Amino acid sequence: MHTTKIGSNLFLVDLQTGGFRKLISSYILKGKETLIVETGPTSSIPNLLSGLQEINVKPEAVTYIALTHIHLDHAGGAGTLLKKLPNAKIIVHPKGAPHLKNPAVLWEASKKTLDQTAEIFGEPEPVPEERMIVAHENMSFDLGDGLTLTTLTTPGHAAHNLSFYEQLNRGVFPGDSAGAYLAEFDVVFPTTPPPFRPDIAVASLDKLISLNPKFLFYSHFGKATDAVNRLRSYQEQIKLWLNLVQEALKRGESDASIRETVLREDKSIRDVVAMLKTNPVQEKTLIKNSIQGFINYAKNAKS
Ligand SMILES: [Zn+2]
Repeated sequence: MHTTKIGSNLFLVDLQTGGFRKLISSYILKGKETLIVETGPTSSIPNLLSGLQEINVKPEAVTYIALTHIHLDHAGGAGTLLKKLPNAKIIVHPKGAPHLKNPAVLWEASKKTLDQTAEIFGEPEPVPEERMIVAHENMSFDLGDGLTLTTLTTPGHAAHNLSFYEQLNRGVFPGDSAGAYLAEFDVVFPTTPPPFRPDIAVASLDKLISLNPKFLFYSHFGKATDAVNRLRSYQEQIKLWLNLVQEALKRGESDASIRETVLREDKSIRDVVAMLKTNPVQEKTLIKNSIQGFINYAKNAKS
């Protein structure tokens, strides 16, 4: 079993991508119609399909697949999954849609930014245009049985980041706009790769806070309580990292040295750094790329 009931008609699937547990989650909202939030990457689509089976969702019953954004770990498997779900349509940000239709550029760029992690995720297959719903701000999808999913544009992590609010569970699916949650340590680690925009990300977090959600359903990984305080803390963490990076640049530190400075000075992540360094996916996507997002932003802002 890798599917867990975590709310009203709401299930979490641990995709176990690359054999790693608690790395990437998909969510299943099972009303009269079924909606999946995040497909995860191509390589773990078989695990998502077996997760649907575990809770007796027939492939024909899935009508929507909502993608927070098109990065491979969230949506790389969309094209592959659609082939198995004959009635499903993909909900995607307008800036993400062209990359789903024609994923070659995204795949090449991902191989550059993710190195061998891209191979762990697998190459994305194209999504036919007629199976996409291009989502704008505040679109609602009524699934029956009280479940309603509403879209919010929350740029910052990526220009094409959507979040979803589900009213029955009073929860937000933030994608990567609220960081990565490491439940066993109760720590949030930034998800801020280039071209991260801290100013825009903080404004998007304000939008999520204004919904006054109870829960966060992280793509990395799982359900968290105390949503509003967590979102506020994440805003503070973004401001802290930006400050640390700006000061380190003023001192002329190298990128590698800036990384060590941030990891040392952000006391909230002290307990997880050693553990993240043992996982090649997290070391690359969280530690290296997240700090690089701040470095690139600060360097560009200066020049
Ligand atoms: Zn992402």
